[in-house]
Amino acid sequence: MDSEEEMQTEEQNEEKVVAFHEFGLDDRILKAIAKLGWLEPTPIQEKTIPLLLEGKDVLIRARTGSGKTGAFAIPLIQKILSTKAQQTRQETKALILAPSKELCKQIHQVFTDLTTKCSREVTVVEVSGQIELSVQKPILAHNPEIIVGTPGRVLQHIKAGHMDLKKSLETLIIDEADLVFSFGYEDELKKVLAHLPTIYQAALASATLSEDVLTLKKLVLHNPATLKLQEAPLAPPSQLAHYSLAAEENDKSAILYSLIKLHLIRGKTIIFVNTVDRCYKLKLFLEQFGIPTCVLNSELPASSRCRAVTQFNSGTYDIIIASDEKALDEPHVVKEKKGKRRKDKESGVARGIDFQFVSNVVNFDFPLDVDSYVHRVGRTARGKNQGTALSLISIRERELMAKVEESLKKSYGRSSLFQTYQFKLEEVEGFRYRAKDAWKAVTRIAVREARLKEIKQELLNCDKLKSYFDDNPRDLQTLRQDKALHTVKIQPHLKDVPDYIVPPSLKRLMGFGKRKRKFNRDAAVSGATATKSKHQARASNPLMSLTVQNKMRK
Ligand code: AMP
Repeated sequence: MDSEEEMQTEEQNEEKVVAFHEFGLDDRILKAIAKLGWLEPTPIQEKTIPLLLEGKDVLIRARTGSGKTGAFAIPLIQKILSTKAQQTRQETKALILAPSKELCKQIHQVFTDLTTKCSREVTVVEVSGQIELSVQKPILAHNPEIIVGTPGRVLQHIKAGHMDLKKSLETLIIDEADLVFSFGYEDELKKVLAHLPTIYQAALASATLSEDVLTLKKLVLHNPATLKLQEAPLAPPSQLAHYSLAAEENDKSAILYSLIKLHLIRGKTIIFVNTVDRCYKLKLFLEQFGIPTCVLNSELPASSRCRAVTQFNSGTYDIIIASDEKALDEPHVVKEKKGKRRKDKESGVARGIDFQFVSNVVNFDFPLDVDSYVHRVGRTARGKNQGTALSLISIRERELMAKVEESLKKSYGRSSLFQTYQFKLEEVEGFRYRAKDAWKAVTRIAVREARLKEIKQELLNCDKLKSYFDDNPRDLQTLRQDKALHTVKIQPHLKDVPDYIVPPSLKRLMGFGKRKRKFNRDAAVSGATATKSKHQARASNPLMSLTVQNKMRK
């Protein structure tokens, strides 16, 4: 019979935080942690690491962004390193299952980062990719210590005889466990379990303790400790500032354009809209001003979504425009509409995908419910980083914002959540004028053509079509020769911000008319990471939030 040890982890402000070296970790892991810049364990890491090191089964309930990947990765690497010296044969010791390819890639990246100093002793392979099974066979033949994959892909490899875990496996981890069943992996997961030894250490990580998770718990955990992180749904206001700015539909694009061009939005930014078409509309709008962005939506194939997140994380783009749909978060409630394209079961824009070092989330369109707001703004202020969420609110959206305010202020114990972002649209009349034309230039046809262009690009990039194109080179030629779709005419002069449209009070601050200002990728809208002199300069900035100005004056 399973007995269960319930542990409550509070936000422990007064208690001394344990340091990573106090866990007795191998030096190579400590060096990798230091290289990642993780100064101290997050609360979930502090509780989980010792339990997993003791060999216990653990159910970790924590939100994405709490550091849960590190919580299971660090003890697993330690466990492998500590037995490595006695090991006579190269064997696969651990299997990590996650419900989407994107998540598998991100988990793999965390393991790669944590094993930089012991990559020969602990090899980690990710098998969720879209490449042929046979291509991965030789990599698996080396019996890497850790394998990461979706249950579907892992089962395929097991069936193909590329991996045999029956004798060697010691640890099983299932991440985002609540999504594994709802993403349609129940059968595959059960079949994978049948190929594992009878005894192994297991951990489940999940944002919720849904029925599915309880079922999984019974299936894989023995005598587990359940760690429930008692935490607010979001980082505290000192770490994540929520701003709202009243903006009617006609003005939203002008405001966004000026905020970006005047460097009032700085650093990596996710802009959320409410439909896929709006994603492209906004992309084409910003493109006219030389503002590069990438788009992320559920209709893109997994490989493109992965590419978008990777490019964003690696700094190729500083702005990503995402169409967030609730159906993506809870795929089990997706009702397929007639005639609509089916969404990829492994897709999930808001949940699970790890956008790294996001300074700002901008709700160009306000989310339709509280959960979506939490998921969206939870992409920033992760780990121990600062973040800012700015919502542009039309009259129609006020009610939605009031609901969010009402729901979240309770958890924060504050009278209000949103601070008003002071922005004087009349001071940027020149921007408004340009924005109006540019927004109009993005017609429905332009949006449709942009989407077609993307599909064409996907066809050209698609591995599965390579052999078809080899056999039918004329089809490839036709696709390639298809004239480039300039869906919106680019006017080069729009890229620059002429001196006369910059509000006088901002000219000195922004360095307009002088040397071009270097883009500060890491600073947030709130200026949390700005230097003192920037703070002082910003204090006279009429577009900055009054609250921020007040804070800066202190
Ligand atoms: P996760 O919840 O595992 O997706 O982690 C969320 C983010 O927190 C990732 O970008 C990690 O790099 C970061 N992170 C994890 N652990 C720590 C830590 N101890 N200190 C600072 N950042 C961390």
